[in-house]
Amino acid sequence: MSREPLDKAVRFAVLKRDNFTCRYCGRSAPDVVLEVDHIISRAQGGSDDPSNLITSCLDCNAGKSAEGLDEEMQPLPPETAEEVEARTARVAAFHRAGRERDKVAKQHEEEIVAELAPVIGGPELLPMLEPKNIRSLAHLEKLLDLETLREVARYTEAKDLKDDGTWQRWLYFCRICWIKVKEKEAS
Ligand SMILES: [Zn+2]
Repeated sequence: MSREPLDKAVRFAVLKRDNFTCRYCGRSAPDVVLEVDHIISRAQGGSDDPSNLITSCLDCNAGKSAEGLDEEMQPLPPETAEEVEARTARVAAFHRAGRERDKVAKQHEEEIVAELAPVIGGPELLPMLEPKNIRSLAHLEKLLDLETLREVARYTEAKDLKDDGTWQRWLYFCRICWIKVKEKEAS
């Protein structure tokens, strides 16, 4: 019998069609390891067409002979147009929600940087910050909290740094924040 692996796209399409659930016992990932199996084996002339493929867990697959399936082991009927449409709508909604989340997160990043940058380094700092600096500020907010960032920003503002350039003030702010992160981790 040929052990040539199934085409990855076909394999994934079958797993998705079967809702990542073993069609024999109904268990699903991650409880079991799922495979895509031939209903009529290749040895018996079965094809790699999805209509001849079924999702099976390792246990069920091990117990199955090449003789074919019992009545109750038939694969799901092909999806109707309505089901395909409903699935497409769910996928689209999922991506929309993701984009919306990204937008909200980005807005929030812009808000905190707009609030804190002038305090940390004066009006010159904001245009100097690159996206990676803004992301690191957002990351620090997650590790600490906004109130702590505000406190450190005010502390930096009040600090009399010798030869302090705007960028030095930003670096000083980051350094204090990371000290606070370490303190928090240690406590
Ligand atoms: Zn199973």
